[in-house]
Amino acid sequence: MSQLLMIKYGELGLKGKNKNLFINRLVQNIQQALAASGLPERQVQTTRGRIMVPVLAEAEMPTLREHLGRVFGIYAICPVQRTTKELPAIQRTALSVLQESLPNGGEFKVESRRSDKSFPLLSPQISQAVAGYIFDQTGEHSELYRAQMRHPEHILQVEVRDEAAYVYCGSWPGAKGMPVGTGGRAVVMLSGGIDSPVAAWLAMKRGVTVEAVHFESFPFTSERAQEKVLDLARELARWQNGQLKVHCIHFTEIQKAIHAACPEEYGITIMRRFMFRLAERVARSSAGLAIYTGESVGQVASQTLESMYVINEVTRMPVLRPLVGFDKEEIMARAKQLGTYETSIRPYEDCCTVFLPAHPKIKPRLAEAQAMEEKLPIKQLMDEALAASKTWLATPKGVEEI
Ligand code: ATP
Ligand code: MG
Repeated sequence: MSQLLMIKYGELGLKGKNKNLFINRLVQNIQQALAASGLPERQVQTTRGRIMVPVLAEAEMPTLREHLGRVFGIYAICPVQRTTKELPAIQRTALSVLQESLPNGGEFKVESRRSDKSFPLLSPQISQAVAGYIFDQTGEHSELYRAQMRHPEHILQVEVRDEAAYVYCGSWPGAKGMPVGTGGRAVVMLSGGIDSPVAAWLAMKRGVTVEAVHFESFPFTSERAQEKVLDLARELARWQNGQLKVHCIHFTEIQKAIHAACPEEYGITIMRRFMFRLAERVARSSAGLAIYTGESVGQVASQTLESMYVINEVTRMPVLRPLVGFDKEEIMARAKQLGTYETSIRPYEDCCTVFLPAHPKIKPRLAEAQAMEEKLPIKQLMDEALAASKTWLATPKGVEEI
């Protein structure tokens, strides 16, 4: 049985002070993930370049894999056996790891690394000594374990480090990216659709802490529509230390005012200009420095470059669109992978569809949109919308209003 999980993190571009910030945050996030897993408490240890998580029982493995697999900043998770830094102990441990990983035999190669440069053998010598021992014990010609140097199916890894030696065979892929909390704060415009949850996830993946802004047109949109968004938020919270704040903005009066005062074909353009203004206001109130959306060029009428140009004009905050170059298929694949797809396809109305014009303007003009908005009390509408809004805290277990 593996006694430890050895966590590898990406080190590219990490230097000096940033590196410590990154590692400290990653350790905190790992501790948080372990606490959320419901498993017994344990001490996480850091050694140079690695983070070690003790395994208390073999039965914990699936739960550990699930929860640590959602911690951004982890490159790979290796179930390892630890041993003393003496060749015979390393050899015996290597044989037992191999027998446990490949009980029915197979082709393998030994690879070694030595971060303790005082260890008497060089890395290739360690590999040779370990492989030699394995063949001595199992019989080189028994055909059970065969050396395969070019394209090994399995790699038996030995790491000789300052404090001990570690042996493992195989690893679980990490979520990659940067630890949440190292990349500043932003809001994400979260609809009930397929795209925006993926955009939120990609923001988190780069270490950004996000809060969601959702526009709802109650009573034109149903309770079910809100429930859907909060369910998406609960799913996303799993990737952000178990928490995601959701600002549900009461958008109905704004939509009615636009509908009453502006030509129908500009309805979507002007509605989206309001969304961006409000998203910026929410971002400012929570120290957010950017707005994320799930837009992808060309997907719908409001996502032509002409539309984006006119809509984006209301804010000077960076608007980040991580899906901009993705096709719908790629976005759907991501949504399935991260676990939001099934919720996103529930059939409830979004505020965008409630007042959807028959022929939305595909190439709106800025001057026209601005002229139409002159008839609207923009600030007052926004203040009222925000005053009637609610904020929820979503966690994997449920939501509460805050
Ligand atoms: P999605 O699948 O994310 O709903 P979409 O393809 O339906 O996207 P649009 O409806 O044009 O596209 O919305 C584009 C983006 O605007 C969304 O990805 C989301 O970021 C934001 N958005 C749209 N509707 C809302 C809403 N009701 N509340 C918050 N944000 C929204
Ligand atoms: Mg949508």
